Amino acid sequence: MQKLPFVSHEKLVEITEKYPTPFHLYDEAGIRRTARDLKEAFAWNHGFREYFAVKACPNPFILKILKEEGCGLDCASMAELRLAEALGFSGDEIMFSSNETPGEEFEYARKLNAIINLDDITHIDFLKKHGGIPERICLRYNPGGELLVGSVYMGQPSGSKFGMTKQQIFHAVQHLQNLGVKEFGLHALLASNAADNNYYPANAMILFELAIELNQKLGAKIFMINLSGGVGIAYQPEQQMPDIRKIGRAIEESFDVMTSARLGNVALSTELGRFMTGPHGCLVATAIHKKHIYKEYIGLDACAVNLMRPAIYDAYHHITVSGKEDALCDHVYDVVGSLCENNDKFAVDRALPEIHDGDLIVIHDTGAHGYSMGYNYNGKLKSAEILLHPDGSFDMIRRAETIRDYFATFDFCDILKDANMD
Ligand SMILES: *Cc1c(COP(=O)(O)O)cnc(C)c1O
Repeated sequence: MQKLPFVSHEKLVEITEKYPTPFHLYDEAGIRRTARDLKEAFAWNHGFREYFAVKACPNPFILKILKEEGCGLDCASMAELRLAEALGFSGDEIMFSSNETPGEEFEYARKLNAIINLDDITHIDFLKKHGGIPERICLRYNPGGELLVGSVYMGQPSGSKFGMTKQQIFHAVQHLQNLGVKEFGLHALLASNAADNNYYPANAMILFELAIELNQKLGAKIFMINLSGGVGIAYQPEQQMPDIRKIGRAIEESFDVMTSARLGNVALSTELGRFMTGPHGCLVATAIHKKHIYKEYIGLDACAVNLMRPAIYDAYHHITVSGKEDALCDHVYDVVGSLCENNDKFAVDRALPEIHDGDLIVIHDTGAHGYSMGYNYNGKLKSAEILLHPDGSFDMIRRAETIRDYFATFDFCDILKDANMD
């Protein structure tokens, strides 16, 4: 099955004439389309809001687009909170779904009036000391065991560090009620990259049942069910994207249990990251070397610093040789980066058209957990980010790192005062 980039070869050539590779390219039209599809799929729920998981794509220009589409932000660190603040998000527009949280981050989140999502029962007293207990708070649930939907295995919550046990949730609610909390949200993230349409409805049902039980047994007033992230995308050409309309309808049907329990006015929220921007970004690189030893290698000017997922998860990212979309895939290559690290392979034994030095290589689906996961191993610098607008124009939305940036943390002393930074 063919999987094509969102950008044509002609456009890519035009962009690379202005901005050298490697860079991440984002498709504004695609991001807006997905944000609208999601909103529509949950339009039946009063108060629905997507809190985009900032860690997936922490670029202020992208976050601004999502703000225009009505999204809030899901933050988990000081820098993410500052980013949200700088872009004018505040109060209910920010979820703070952190874990192992430093005191000053809780304090800052409280200052912004963000919705605090507590990962653990011990964080109640910690939050009391750092920022104080708000009147509305969200609690993160971990049901333990395995998540089986029908006969499909979707994850192992019992092995996940996140959230509280059911018993702890009950104790936490009672403790927080005593501390003056008036309304509760419930949150769970039980799978990652779940492309199966049944994951989200299963997660929703688990939270609905918990909400009803808390409401009936403890009189807890529930204001939000947060389905969090975890909805997958079609990385492989033979995979299908999850159908968000279908998912929305399935959750609408099971929401009947909430309505019957007189919890029909509870707002749903999501913290999708990958689903929102993943397919709408790609890493554009140039083939700069060709090596033949026991295998055929294509060396790129990008490396795992720009996209870690293949190296750390053995993740599949589809590759298109730009301009050779219709050519026969009659060569088998390992497509690799320049790190002194043998995991630095974007693809292993991949059937591709014949590649020549100078060919533009498009690595698909890097719009989430792509640039943001990058690091600086081997002193390799992080790339620029470019935004392709719906009308075909494009802008740089983050410049590439420079040597000066790389050495900036030595600016407290003069040990590198003689270094050439240009
Ligand atoms: C990472 C994360 C998300 C987003 O996950 P995706 O897989 O990108 O949808 C949402 N919420 C929390 C708390 C997360 O840690």
